[in-house]
Amino acid sequence: MDNTNPPTTVASVVCSRRGLLLAAAGGLAALGGGASASAAGSTPATPAAGTPAAPPPAAPTGPFTLPPLPYADNALDPVVSANTLGFHYGKHHRAYVDNLNKAVAGTPFADMPLEKIIAATLGVADKSAVYNNAAQHWNHSFYWRSLRPQGGGDPTGALRQKIEASFGSVEACRKELQAAATSQFGSGWAWLALDGDKLVVTKTGNADSPLGKGQKPLLTIDVWEHAYYLDYQNRRADYVNALLGKLLNWEFAAANLG
Ligand code: FE
Repeated sequence: MDNTNPPTTVASVVCSRRGLLLAAAGGLAALGGGASASAAGSTPATPAAGTPAAPPPAAPTGPFTLPPLPYADNALDPVVSANTLGFHYGKHHRAYVDNLNKAVAGTPFADMPLEKIIAATLGVADKSAVYNNAAQHWNHSFYWRSLRPQGGGDPTGALRQKIEASFGSVEACRKELQAAATSQFGSGWAWLALDGDKLVVTKTGNADSPLGKGQKPLLTIDVWEHAYYLDYQNRRADYVNALLGKLLNWEFAAANLG
């Protein structure tokens, strides 16, 4: 395991189904792994409220590791309980990482950055196991940092201006996120993303993300049932509303906007 890689900045990874164009600008900070896995139940350092989480080290290639959570496992309670976080991060995310490492072992993918693996396997039928686990590792690493204790509220600065230019108001943007997250049929994700020069809200199924549409993700909400069922049972809208109001990490989105 390589822990020597410096923290990197958020990537602009753009891939299309045909061209598989990868425009990586340094690799997504949350993604490669490289830092020691932080098991569920451990106590990662909790950043001061209002302080964006420091990006963990990223390994450019496998073996991939579970990135440490940017907050303690009970820091999102009660919106996302320690119990949910323990299963979601410690079991589900860990399984994606473990299964990805098994799927790429002994293949050229083992020496590729995560974003390149995703781009190279998107839509390739016999590589779906590699794609699904790589993409879910990427998505979850991004999701943990899309949340923070004492989050929510309204964005400021350039991000706010961009949101107002794209949606009319922050509240309109929030409503679009809420609608996307609650209307996604089955498992998937809701996203705030940069599409060209404009911000958009989009939703994706299963392991897909805006990367596959050539968009740059800024924030995400996991709407797989494992993200909320222990706390909210089937009440996805309650989970989404609580997340939007109390945990959304606008500073992370602003950093991704650049
Ligand atoms: Fe999940």
